[in-house]
Amino acid sequence: MTELLSLAEILAKNDPETAKEVAELAFITSRKLRVRIPRNVKRRFCRRCHVPLIPGVTMRIRIKRKTLVVTCLTCGWIRRYELSRGVNKGEN
Ligand SMILES: [Zn+2]
Repeated sequence: MTELLSLAEILAKNDPETAKEVAELAFITSRKLRVRIPRNVKRRFCRRCHVPLIPGVTMRIRIKRKTLVVTCLTCGWIRRYELSRGVNKGEN
């Protein structure tokens, strides 16, 4: 499953549309098979449109005070991570 997602990330730079499809497929399959996608892998993809988040290509990163603001340029989805609490714990 993570292989599919890695592939999607590689594709993202050259072919964002295909990358999105591959990523979506990986997310759908993982749900069907009840396989968990590792958190560190999952957060590299947009929660809403599943596009691989590549800085400067499909995502924009802003740091506001102690918050990391990640914006998906494809669908406008915004995710905020608290830097003070550690980025790893900021998930949901
Ligand atoms: Zn998105």
